[in-house]
Amino acid sequence: MRLILLGPPNAGKGTQAQSLINTYQIPQISTGDIFRANIKQETPLGKKAKNYLDQGLLVPDELVVDIVTDRLQKDDCQNGFLLDGFPRTVVQAEALEQFLKEHQQNLDQVLNIQVRTEVLVERAVGRRVCQQCGATFHIKFKPPTKDNVCDVCGGQVIQRKDDQRETAEKRIKVYEQETSPLIDYYEKRDLLVTIDGEQSIDKVTADILNALKDA
Ligand code: ADP
Ligand code: AMP
Repeated sequence: MRLILLGPPNAGKGTQAQSLINTYQIPQISTGDIFRANIKQETPLGKKAKNYLDQGLLVPDELVVDIVTDRLQKDDCQNGFLLDGFPRTVVQAEALEQFLKEHQQNLDQVLNIQVRTEVLVERAVGRRVCQQCGATFHIKFKPPTKDNVCDVCGGQVIQRKDDQRETAEKRIKVYEQETSPLIDYYEKRDLLVTIDGEQSIDKVTADILNALKDA
């Protein structure tokens, strides 16, 4: 299964990715996670990406495309993959299309998780992530069992810098300008399924699995 999770920041892509990778036994490729890991390790890529992430801006296309196309050539992507947070611009989508064509592969579905802006901001300011394994929580909607401790690995749970209200709002604007044209892009290719992301986490998962039954 070759899937893309599309949707504004804080729509629930990472949360849903957890169920999908278990169900389909495919790797989750989150460009945001890749950048954060590189920033933490202070790699050359991390140094180039840091300012963009801190400001809620997109990292330039050429940096992102190379990372993803390298990653897609790894053995674990043979049976499929779940792209989370990529593509985010038409240029990235075209580069992905070209790559897949060259490798005789097709996308099965693009899942567009739809959530209104005011709900996105509430999700952003309450989101907490594990510093160690990246698991996602929410102070109101999905609190960790023990305050600030990750249920998955016991790591420390923190707030992402770019989830503060101002940066979160900026990221939504960037999504509207640069990423939302991909809805039309994938609709034209008959790959888009839109999911109501304002339901409970379990109901969103159920709707996604149902939509993928015929993919
Ligand atoms: P994204 O990967 O799209 O940026 P996340 O999966 O990290 O979004 O979710 C953003 C925040 O919203 C997290 O704190 C998560 O726990 C919470 N969340 C995700 N899905 C739902 C939902 N259906 N209802 C309520 N909160 C949700
Ligand atoms: P995310 O974890 O998906 O919310 O991404 C966090 C940040 O990483 C974004 O605000 C961007 O700065 C950067 N980023 C992640 N994916 C991409 C992408 N496909 N293109 C450009 N920038 C990205």
